[in-house]
Amino acid sequence: ARRKLVAGNWKMNGDMAALAELDAIAAAAALHPHVDVAICPPFTLIAPAAARTALPIGAQDCHARASGAHTGCVSAAMLVEAGARLAIVGHSERRADQHESDAEVRAKAEAVMAAGMIAILCVGETEAERDAGRAEDVVAAQLAGSVPPGAKADALVIAYEPVWAIGTGRTPTPGDVAAMHAGIRTRLRALLGPEADGVRILYGGSVKPANAAELLGLPDVDGALVGGASLKAADFVPIIAAA
Ligand code: 13P
Repeated sequence: ARRKLVAGNWKMNGDMAALAELDAIAAAAALHPHVDVAICPPFTLIAPAAARTALPIGAQDCHARASGAHTGCVSAAMLVEAGARLAIVGHSERRADQHESDAEVRAKAEAVMAAGMIAILCVGETEAERDAGRAEDVVAAQLAGSVPPGAKADALVIAYEPVWAIGTGRTPTPGDVAAMHAGIRTRLRALLGPEADGVRILYGGSVKPANAAELLGLPDVDGALVGGASLKAADFVPIIAAA
């Protein structure tokens, strides 16, 4: 059976004072040992967060190359040295704002895994794509283009995050989430073979305490990638408890 993973993506939020939230989150995680819990703060907080807590700490991005003339970027080895154990790649905000392609996302995922970290690889359709009936095709193409061949289940997590559900308070129906996650599992089997059965598929997009139990109870939903509701332990802890 796949262990559930509830991961927080702090995005461009948080300062040293916010790390106090980690203590309450870690205490709650200890009460739910069957759930994996992780927090991905901004780059600047990875080292102090990792020094403060036993919770797995992750990055929100990772450059594909080991070093070189890439101003403003951070490599997988740098993240590991700072204490990161996982890294999000291909988040829709980076696909949109930094124009990241599927090929770039795949290269980033490969770098993350080669450094011994877990890659949380994000996919998801826009509202226009869903309205056009293309959601499953769009996600299938993202998977085909960005999942590294030969990826191992313990190093790869997929996060299905419909772009229109991020930060909007809107979520797909439970039926639509279950259908998409089943479709992702099928695509992963085609790409990775039996290894696909161990890959965790998270749902992300407006997960909050009020909807967490329903979403996390769906078949093939192996956890959640939580944005806004991961910033405060008061919101995040009930989501851990619902997993
Ligand atoms: P929200 O939970 O704020 O909708 O963000 C979801 C997300 O993008 C997590 O990566």
